[in-house]
Amino acid sequence: FTPDRIRNFSIIAHVDHGKSTLADRLLEVTGAIAYGGQAQYLDKLQVERERGITVKAQTVSLVHRHCGADYLLNLIDTPGHVDFSYEVSRSLSACQGALLLVDASQGVQAQTVANFFLAFEQELAIVPVLNKIDMESAEPQRVAQQMKDAFDIEPSECLKVSAKTGLGLQTVLEAVVQRIPPPQGNPTGDLRMLLFDAYHDEYRGVVCLVEVLDGRVQKGEKITSVATGTNYEVLEVGLLAPNPTPTGQLLTGQVGYMLVGMKDTRSARVGDTWHHQRRPVPALPGFKPAKSMVFAGIFPLSAAGFEQLHAAMDRLTLNDASVTVRRENSNALGAGFRCGFLGLLHMDVFRQRLEQEHGASVIVTAPTVPCRVVLPSGEELELQNPAEFPLNQKIAEVWEPTVAATVVTPNEFIGAIMQLCQDRRGEMQEHAVLGTGRTLLKYHLPLAELGGDFYDELKSISSGYASFDYEEAEYRKADLQRLDILINTEAVDALARIVHRDKAQAVGRRLCTKLRELMDRQQFEVVLQASAGGKIVARETLRAFRKNVLAKCYGGDISRKRKLLEKQKEGKKRMRRLGSVDVAQEVFHELMKAG
Ligand code: GDP
Ligand code: MG
Repeated sequence: FTPDRIRNFSIIAHVDHGKSTLADRLLEVTGAIAYGGQAQYLDKLQVERERGITVKAQTVSLVHRHCGADYLLNLIDTPGHVDFSYEVSRSLSACQGALLLVDASQGVQAQTVANFFLAFEQELAIVPVLNKIDMESAEPQRVAQQMKDAFDIEPSECLKVSAKTGLGLQTVLEAVVQRIPPPQGNPTGDLRMLLFDAYHDEYRGVVCLVEVLDGRVQKGEKITSVATGTNYEVLEVGLLAPNPTPTGQLLTGQVGYMLVGMKDTRSARVGDTWHHQRRPVPALPGFKPAKSMVFAGIFPLSAAGFEQLHAAMDRLTLNDASVTVRRENSNALGAGFRCGFLGLLHMDVFRQRLEQEHGASVIVTAPTVPCRVVLPSGEELELQNPAEFPLNQKIAEVWEPTVAATVVTPNEFIGAIMQLCQDRRGEMQEHAVLGTGRTLLKYHLPLAELGGDFYDELKSISSGYASFDYEEAEYRKADLQRLDILINTEAVDALARIVHRDKAQAVGRRLCTKLRELMDRQQFEVVLQASAGGKIVARETLRAFRKNVLAKCYGGDISRKRKLLEKQKEGKKRMRRLGSVDVAQEVFHELMKAG
């Protein structure tokens, strides 16, 4: 395939608008997978299937016949969720065009807007596609008008398809060939190759996904990474069709995979430029590394589970270099890890994978955003753990990360949404009409305020109709302080969190009440307190109680008695002794789940 017969493109869409279904259908009609094959080939991970979201981008090559000539179409999948917008932009950098897929009954949504601008900024050719026109509730005219209002796309440019029934699929393939430009590279120049993704395969080690921008690369050649200076030998190279299929070489404009004997995905610097050894080329403008925006402590549910958790963490991070991990010791939860994630969903998916794929039972502490604390001396700290946050008198300034958020909503919910954003310390930036009956709102919000129940609230006040997306914005100064929970005057590090001064008391009260409800009574009185920035703001008392399982046992059945005693011992194992108080590990688990 010469470059003029190659098209590299992505599908971008709001979640559930049919991206995976369309991708699968394209694979089917081009013969890459058998019809009725495994549903949603591109969503490989179990969590992805369950949640219907794509976490890791996947790439496939298709062959399409157009006017008697074969074209190589490389479909580079992108994750569908805001937490992974970093992966979206790097997938897009390997493309010349994108299919902008919109559900014809749901219309333009927040992620449609965010993804459109990611593609637009990279100057990609955009092919608008209205999907699900088989549905009775589809309103392609109305949605075409929204596309005009939001993106200045002419209604006549919009394709109308059903990924489910296959209607209009040929028009999609034709548009890919006709409207998306071929890659511009120099086939006879020195090798210049973009590394745009990498994943770990149990049997093959690290599989690198690359696009050849200039020249060609062959099996057996020696290549060099500009970012790390490391030399590698190309052990295998080929196309993803959709399974790795060796071809011996990749030519200018082609997208494929490469094995170079790499052991750890962390050596694969996404955005890196590779060239032939001793034939250096100018590096591409690399991507800035993904930044952790949410941190949380992850601990085994019982201390005995630490080794298993450790092993599970090692395996999972092999394949997800965007998770940062360091060891942490907690007075309440023992040995564990402090992990950094791209966002809350990323964190949730990671936890789910730990439990599902690796059988680890874990306690995840309340998530925290990386705040910058300026000390009176002028020294600046970036904190990943609320327990390390200094008390008020030791702080000159606190800066917190903020986001630029997009909300798309039917007009009737605007009032309630504005109220919600205001309660979350938001500032409105823009208010724009989108076709009839819909509005696009832009807000500046502290990232920390998106935690907890923000999404649930937004969905509930809009009956599920509002959609939301955000991108990282600058750090801003904020009046934040550390909130500690004290059990008999001893602070429990795993329960510390960072809160805004105005909300400290409410959060402190809620946590104390919840903790009192969850904790077993002890043989003495236990005082539960919340302290914000060093001042007590809430207090609860847990009255004394003599715990005796045998009291419940009438009749003196000896085997029953023994069983209960063993059970009590069993219960003890999972206890953490905080000062003089025993707290069941499950209490933390329940408290974290309660938010
Ligand atoms: P993604 O989140 O964008 O990858 O969306 P999916 O491909 O997972 O599709 C979301 C849901 O919409 C699934 O239940 C699909 O079966 C359904 N769906 C996708 N395309 C169509 C279509 O053209 N018509 C109808 N009726 N349903 C569709
Ligand atoms: Mg999907």
